[in-house]
Amino acid sequence: MTFIPSDSRLNGGDADRGRVDLAGAGPGDPDLLTLKAHRALGRADVVIHDRLISAEILALARPGAQVIEAGKTGFGPAMPQEEINALMVAHARAGAYVLRLKSGDPGVFGRLDEELEALEAAGIPWRVIPGITAASAAAAQIGQPLTRRGRNSDLRLLTGHDVQGFAEQDWRALARPGAVAAIYMGKRSARFTQGRLLMHGADPATPVTIVENASRPESVTRATTLSLLPQAVADATGPAVILFGLAPRAAAALPVIKEAVQ
Ligand code: SAH
Repeated sequence: MTFIPSDSRLNGGDADRGRVDLAGAGPGDPDLLTLKAHRALGRADVVIHDRLISAEILALARPGAQVIEAGKTGFGPAMPQEEINALMVAHARAGAYVLRLKSGDPGVFGRLDEELEALEAAGIPWRVIPGITAASAAAAQIGQPLTRRGRNSDLRLLTGHDVQGFAEQDWRALARPGAVAAIYMGKRSARFTQGRLLMHGADPATPVTIVENASRPESVTRATTLSLLPQAVADATGPAVILFGLAPRAAAALPVIKEAVQ
């Protein structure tokens, strides 16, 4: 007869007890979850998630699982990072299988290292489950590759702001013809980004596409150029990624922002 611990059906099993999986939930469409993240959601005892995680994805959590919103947005945590770390550690120490669910890929502007360090310091085993990052989802939506032979041999993932404020970048490299960058958290810093790029010689006619709520039914795509970036981004209310150097393949079908605004 096989001995089955009484609660082994309630979590991932003995191997997962006291463990934290840090998983990417992708950009919002539940179909863009990895099978691994999906399975983890169906088995975890405690799910600690960021605010950007869609309701459809949270609905995949095991019935009875404790689902905690850590409230983190792109502009900094509503729940202090130390509190999130302490929560993960406390639940794992109590024997729970904890799923820390982050939007997109956990390793892209996700403070993954801070959480891993906290787990390591507490001696808690962890695993990272990658996810589809917003840039990939946005590029897919506009039918453009992020890299293209003869156009760009590198791709930059930028943040509009960092701990110091608006983030400085290698503007000269970005200003070169053919450069492609996906700018995360770039709404508030759009004017700064535009100014820096123009100052370093970027063509004002460089295509820019703003993809808001990529992969979600309410997604809005705005095609514009560098010269109108701040105006085009102003209407975005949801999470948006700015694809610098890319125009949508089906540009004609999209609202193109081209009115001059003072
Ligand atoms: N780890 C995430 C990024 C977290 S930072 C990832 O890999 O995608 C939060 C920023 O990501 C937002 O400000 C926005 O710029 C971008 N973002 C996240 N989800 C998005 C979505 N569905 N559509 C567009 N941008 C998104």
